[in-house]
Amino acid sequence: MTLAIRARRLLDVRTGGFIENPVVTVEGERIASVGSPPPAGATVLDWGDRILLPGLIDAHTHVLLQGNLSRADYHHQILREYPAHRVARAVRSLGIALGHGFTFLRDLETEGAGYADVALRDAVSEGVLPGPRMQVAGPALSTTGTYPILRYRPDWEFPVGVQIVDGADSGRRAVRQQLSYGTDWVKVYANMGAGHAVTADGYIDSPSNFTLPELSAVVEESHAHGSRVAAHATSDRGIRVALDAGVDSIEHGYSIRPEVAAEMAARGVFLSPTFTATDYVAQARAKERGLVWSEAPRIQVRSFENCLAAGVRIAFGTDVGGFPWTDIHQAKEFTFLTRFGMSPIDAIRSATVVSAELLHVEGEVGIIEAGAYADLIGVRDNPLDDISALERVDRVMKGGVVVRQPAL
Ligand SMILES: [Zn+2]
Repeated sequence: MTLAIRARRLLDVRTGGFIENPVVTVEGERIASVGSPPPAGATVLDWGDRILLPGLIDAHTHVLLQGNLSRADYHHQILREYPAHRVARAVRSLGIALGHGFTFLRDLETEGAGYADVALRDAVSEGVLPGPRMQVAGPALSTTGTYPILRYRPDWEFPVGVQIVDGADSGRRAVRQQLSYGTDWVKVYANMGAGHAVTADGYIDSPSNFTLPELSAVVEESHAHGSRVAAHATSDRGIRVALDAGVDSIEHGYSIRPEVAAEMAARGVFLSPTFTATDYVAQARAKERGLVWSEAPRIQVRSFENCLAAGVRIAFGTDVGGFPWTDIHQAKEFTFLTRFGMSPIDAIRSATVVSAELLHVEGEVGIIEAGAYADLIGVRDNPLDDISALERVDRVMKGGVVVRQPAL
């Protein structure tokens, strides 16, 4: 079937310019042309005064988490919730993301829910569930003693939110095992856990979880099989090991000095800053865990500025799931990105063409052009004038199928 979508304007995310009165022709699940008159016999879909943009990409989500403010929240989800309950709520998360115009997610670890993300990704692509396209990571990797649940009675065994690896061979084996279950990414915790402190020069210091040989083995094995590695990293010591090991993206990056930012840029490593989650957790965690968390938001802004100045590519990531899917809109991240130094068009690029590059799906998603998937959104207000317009997406198409279209 041939569809032709009309609207008032189309934002060309590459140039930052608008195309007036666009016509996007869709054949099946892909875009056939942009700008040509609709072919004879096409079904015309009129999106009225809306502005068309590509479907958005959130490159850091947790569909299987539902807010993680305190240790108690986390323990509840890991220790008490039945796996099926977590999956049921994840199905809701997928619907929320799609309704908000996020047609692609990189879901970065399941926090005790095993490979449920692989199953959800596949159920969506089979058409069993409505949801965004996904790349998934399964359980993240970290080392003994660095990831909760910790410090419960030692004579009992408690579940841990990650897969523990110690030593290069153990990391290699874990990657092989994970990939055999169908994951796309490997997520590692480069630093996490005890030992975070604010330094005299106003950054954060914390130990690296992995030795270089350990993390290098993980990255080498991942890359050898066409998979990539995302590193949760809070400060330079962990980031340096991650960069030397060859990871593809740094997640959060609360503390990045200028020289480390320069190295990230030189190596082409992306940063996914996740300000929305920081904003959500910082106050509560400061009460629970002390000074580092009260300083972290300010340090993270400074680090982000270092990365922008160095030319690090910013992949749009919210860490939704770290905050509740139902309470806070993922697109709020755009407001943080622009408040902290990105132009509106660069923030939009981070959620479209730049994230597509990180995900190795350039030309397939994050762009409205012939050959790409027909993943489109419509907004009424101009997001270049008011970036919060992206919190009011009211038209969504994924793969040529309208999934959200209230009456005009
Ligand atoms: Zn996360």
